[in-house]
Amino acid sequence: MTEKRRMSHWNFDNTYTMLPDVFYKKQLPARVERPELMLLNEELGHELGLHMDALREEGAAIFSGNQIVEGSEPFAQAYAGHQFGHFTMLGDGRAVMLGEHVTPSGKRVDIQLKGAGQTPFSRRGDGRATLGPVLREYIVSEAMHGLNIPTSRALAAVGTGENVQREQMKQGAVLTRVSSSHIRVGTFEYAAYARDEALIIKLLDYTIDRHYPQLQKEKNKPLAFLREVIKKQAALVALWMKVGFVHGVMNTDNVSINGQTIDYGPCAFIDAYDRKAVFSSIDHSGRYAYGNQPAIAQWNLARLAETLIPLIHPDPQQAIHEATDLINMFPQIYDTYWYAEMGKKLGLEIVDSKERKLIDDLLHFLEGERIDYTYFFRSLTLNKRDLAIFEAASFIEWEKQWKHCLARQGVDESVIAQRMKQHNPAVIPRNYLVEKAIQKAEREADFSDIKQLLDLLQDPYAYTAEQEKYGQMPPDGDSRYITYCGT
Ligand code: AMP
Ligand code: MG
Repeated sequence: MTEKRRMSHWNFDNTYTMLPDVFYKKQLPARVERPELMLLNEELGHELGLHMDALREEGAAIFSGNQIVEGSEPFAQAYAGHQFGHFTMLGDGRAVMLGEHVTPSGKRVDIQLKGAGQTPFSRRGDGRATLGPVLREYIVSEAMHGLNIPTSRALAAVGTGENVQREQMKQGAVLTRVSSSHIRVGTFEYAAYARDEALIIKLLDYTIDRHYPQLQKEKNKPLAFLREVIKKQAALVALWMKVGFVHGVMNTDNVSINGQTIDYGPCAFIDAYDRKAVFSSIDHSGRYAYGNQPAIAQWNLARLAETLIPLIHPDPQQAIHEATDLINMFPQIYDTYWYAEMGKKLGLEIVDSKERKLIDDLLHFLEGERIDYTYFFRSLTLNKRDLAIFEAASFIEWEKQWKHCLARQGVDESVIAQRMKQHNPAVIPRNYLVEKAIQKAEREADFSDIKQLLDLLQDPYAYTAEQEKYGQMPPDGDSRYITYCGT
């Protein structure tokens, strides 16, 4: 054990590289010129059992990839994926995995550098990431964690001191991501593409050991596995929808097998409630629009199911039949999660058909009037009637029904108020806030706004005075559709 390792307490134990070597390529991160530690996630570092004093010193070298810590055996993962519906061979083109770190409590996590240089999977890309998107992923993934949504996390952002050619020259940066793994639906597609059953069996066994150990004794492991992945994906997308999150690139290579949010790109939060909301400039057809996400999740899971067909049953027709039955259950499973979560936003614990209708009616109403989604629920939680819409006859009628449903639950008002606070964030990483903070970092090398934002987003359900300021609607954009009466 070297001095360095003892200092920062890394505890690498790599299992992924025990898979057949078609699943990865050994790859060292490329050296960078002038690494500079811009953000270091102290809270996460502690959770991982790392020694933060040491990391403050060594972080620039380690998180740029210039220094490889003891125990790390860097590699790039191979995977495939359906991108906007089309199958492609992919792989980590600009990410390098340092390995699996085991925390003091025994949790195994991948430590990955995104933007660490070219790999055998880079195709024509430069393997680099730029500061803006790195900071964006840092902020939004940490915000998702604060919102209690399963996600990869950000441990550090490092500037490389090098320029990266995009439409314009940009500052290079590397993001250190921490995730329970980076196994994707696309990893299974990659294995299936080789038409070598042994490969997919090995990947399945590995994934079950790592993420679904409870399935080890199942008679039909691939089928049980598919069922569990469906459940986790449905639960995840229900949470995205609950907070108004639009992932933006739900390609199968960006779908974690473990129901975590991964690969933050052109993601964003909706302002006005709009099922058609699209933020990504490349999503021309709205394939990954806000309201399409559950259907796309089901489509993606069908691609996973296809990879498992040869393992489910020796008779392909029977296998297809059994897998299709599971995939067809997705909408029902999703609805159960989603209505339960939406119910909590309204203080409801029991969600039956009456409550389901209440939720549907409300969203229909919000969409028709283009009401700011997060702000509306925040006002409802605080019992502030600060939007003109609260005076509307249709709202007053809806509110009567809501109160009726609440009364049916037979719980104290204080319990309801508490539940609403726990499920309606006071603050989310609104696009205008995130953009402003990133620009300040890019133009003035001033990270104060980002740090402030990260601080507020750590517990978005706290309802502090500081969060009040940041909970406001965007000064332009969607606010033109609503009448805001001030708080
Ligand atoms: P993403 O949209 O980030 O999920 O990336 C899709 C694919 O393109 C993945 O295989 C990435 O590794 C690859 N990729 C994206 N940007 C770059 C880049 N600058 N250099 C090399 N590969 C890249
Ligand atoms: Mg990706």
